[in-house]
Amino acid sequence: MNIGILALQGAFAEHMKMLETLHANGILIRQKSDLSHPLDGLILPGGESTAMGKLLFDLDILEPVRERILEGLPVFGTCAGMILLAKQLEDSPIRHLATMDITVRRNAYGRQLGSFTTTAAFGNFPSIPMTFIRAPFITQTGNSVTVLSTVNGNKVAARQGNQLVTAFHPELTDSVAVHSYFLNMVQNWVTGEKA
Ligand code: GLN
Repeated sequence: MNIGILALQGAFAEHMKMLETLHANGILIRQKSDLSHPLDGLILPGGESTAMGKLLFDLDILEPVRERILEGLPVFGTCAGMILLAKQLEDSPIRHLATMDITVRRNAYGRQLGSFTTTAAFGNFPSIPMTFIRAPFITQTGNSVTVLSTVNGNKVAARQGNQLVTAFHPELTDSVAVHSYFLNMVQNWVTGEKA
């Protein structure tokens, strides 16, 4: 499986390590021409969403990436990656890829309390470690969005079709649960395409 990892800024190297552990092939996406690699999935890492959104636009890859996602390419956004995918950001007119029917509150825990580690359920996994860094959470979801995790009553992981988001950073923990879940989504998509 070939998984692109947006590598303009932020925590992309850690996703690469996770993919290596799971025997998937990570391809760093740094410029438009990198999108010509055959891709079965795409990871949008954590970092700074404003900077990443601006780079996506300036490098002319915002639209091509958006189109691929709308065509069904499985995508996994962590933290800032989740902000990039949100159709709406609370109290802000700004949108980036805007493909997923969620409203997201940036820096939702405040800047001081924004970084912490906890454990909680993710989908069918009863308990996984979760690292939050100046994290957002989801405040509203559309009808076709499934919430996969809540922490203290706040939605921190969700899925809509082939789009998966986490407010936390699974790539900074030793649990491969979320990446395995994503690769399973990718595998189902690849199998479905060829069927
Ligand atoms: N607070 C960052 C933002 O708004 C996200 C933080 C992260 O990705 N760890 O972009």
